[in-house]
Amino acid sequence: MQNTAARLLIVDDEPVIRTSLALALAELGFSTRTAEDGFSALHEIRQQIPDILISDLNMPGMSGFELLSVVRRRFPDVCSIAMSGAFSGDEVPSGVAADAFYQKGSSMGALLQMMGNLHHQERRAACPTEPSDPIWIQHSNKDAAEDACISIACPECLRTFLLAPGSSISQIREAICTHCSSSVRYAMVEPLDRLSSQSLRNATAEAREKPDSAAQFYY
Ligand SMILES: [Zn+2]
Repeated sequence: MQNTAARLLIVDDEPVIRTSLALALAELGFSTRTAEDGFSALHEIRQQIPDILISDLNMPGMSGFELLSVVRRRFPDVCSIAMSGAFSGDEVPSGVAADAFYQKGSSMGALLQMMGNLHHQERRAACPTEPSDPIWIQHSNKDAAEDACISIACPECLRTFLLAPGSSISQIREAICTHCSSSVRYAMVEPLDRLSSQSLRNATAEAREKPDSAAQFYY
């Protein structure tokens, strides 16, 4: 296999899944690292940029939705695979900034084939992401989170800052990074069990229909 030296970063909050996946892929010759959520994944990425990022979507702390959108923006050359048990099939769920989707529980062969394809395809053409697309922040608990601060990862400096969110879902908002003063567009999404791909599509369409509101931002 040509890409056996590819460097992988595997992100999942379930230790069994990330460890077994990392072990299996390491045995096949991949260089593997693991992280338990988006925050630690960004920490790993700062140490060394992986070739392929394989990330769970539903995680406490920083979810895969947010991690993938940050990585897509900041490291567009990193191939990314979203994985989840909450979606089925092999299509990337709408609004998720990944090149491919791996349904948890599918065969390792399917994952390997996916990674091989990623390596050879013109990935940016296959998965266009508009610069105005916001960072997706997942409400972990909608009711409790309305008053609580959320952490936002800055795609520019990769540090996180706290923000008190409003209560509306899927509305594009803007925040200023407290570290580097970059403008960060973000949107809250429903917890995964309540998430419909339609709501993501709507929000993405909204972001794209308003390019003028994005023009002043750094990306
Ligand atoms: Zn920043």
